[in-house]
Formats: sequence, structure tokens, C-alpha cells
Amino acid sequence: ALGVKPASEFKFIVIACAAGEYFSKDAGPVSVWVETDTVRASRGGTGTAKCGGNYAASLTAQMEGKEHGCQQVLFLDAEERRWLEEMGGMNVMMVFEDGTLLTPPLAGGTILHGITRDSLLTLARDAGMTVKEERYALDQLFADAKSGKLREVFACGTAAVVSPIGAFKSKTDSCTINNNTVGEVTAKLRQTLCDIQFGRTADPHDWIRTVA
Ligand SMILES: *Cc1c(COP(=O)(O)O)cnc(C)c1O
Repeated sequence: ALGVKPASEFKFIVIACAAGEYFSKDAGPVSVWVETDTVRASRGGTGTAKCGGNYAASLTAQMEGKEHGCQQVLFLDAEERRWLEEMGGMNVMMVFEDGTLLTPPLAGGTILHGITRDSLLTLARDAGMTVKEERYALDQLFADAKSGKLREVFACGTAAVVSPIGAFKSKTDSCTINNNTVGEVTAKLRQTLCDIQFGRTADPHDWIRTVA
């Protein structure tokens, strides 16, 4: 049928193939453009799901970010354009000087429930870190980066696993994170998750499944 309605039947197809590093290993941390004009998701929308069209809303900002020399884009909440939400295709996490790991909460329904996000929060708790799922404002990010309170920031998702962020740029401000180098906590969390995925270490939460 040609019409606008939910599909009455669908096939769920998984395509598996070998893939190289998402970002070059030696390239170091990425620079991030903070998007203040367009938004990725709004309350009541589909931002929480990896549906067809998931990336569409992020693509013009991605191109704008490139023009500013940035490889990735950070989106803010649709209502106030103030609170950090996530990247175009990855969740975002902050590490503070007191060892706290913070990521924006899923409650608003505008942030994708990444399995990598969930896994890293679990591994951070295992490592004895304080883990917070709380709102974090953009002006606070710039202030904390400049005062040194904010030590590390990284993006996370299946494709890149953990991608360190070395700088943020917006229309009105900019800052570097951890002198644009890969942070200790970032590297450790990435290593721990990869070691579990590759079977190099114990899998305490029974995450690994044999698929073929
Ligand atoms: C895929 C994706 C993520 C990461 O999800 P994972 O389940 O960890 O791969 C985060 N945000 C968005 C918008 C995504 O499309």
C-alpha cells in the first residue's frame, strides 16, 4: 500500500561486517561544535529511539561544525538551549576533579538510551566512582573547563566505543579539555569495556553473547 500508516509487518535485519576504527587511533581527542540553533530531539518526539531518521536532524549542524573545524556536534535541550543532551550519534559524559562521572539524564525522552552509556556507567560504579545522571548546563561546562574542575569529557557509542573530547566551540565561547589530551579515566573506561568485549577479561555482568 502507498499511504501514511505504521507498517503492519516488518523484518528486523541485522547486517554484520568488519569495521575499522571509527576515529583514527592516533588522531587524539576530537573538537566539538556546540549547536545552539537546531536541535536533535524535543520532548514527546522520537529522540530516544534509534529510528529511521535518527541522524537526520543532526546533519546540518554536523556540516556547520565541520566549517568551524570540529568533527562532532553537541546538542542542547530544545526548550531552553541550555542543558547538554548528547552528540549527533553518541552520548556524552563528563569527569570532574573529585572523580565524579556525570551524564545527562534520560528522563526527558530526548536522549538515546545507549547501551555503551549504560555499560560505562556500570563500569564506573564498579570502579568506585560517583556516578550522576543529572542535567548540566553549557555555561557551567565552559566555566568548569576554565576553572579546571572539569577534567575529562568523552562521547560514547557502539561504533567509536569511547571518543575523547579535547575542545568545545560555540558561537560565543570556546574551551579546551585536559589540554586536548586523552584523560586517564576516559582511557581506563574504554580499555575495560573493550577488554570485556574482546574476552580479554572477566565479564562480571554477563554481557557477552555468542552470535555466530
Ligand atoms: C547510536 C546512538 C547512541 C549510542 O548508542 P549505543 O547503543 O551505545 O550504540 C547515542 N546517541 C545517538 C543519537 C545514537 O544514534
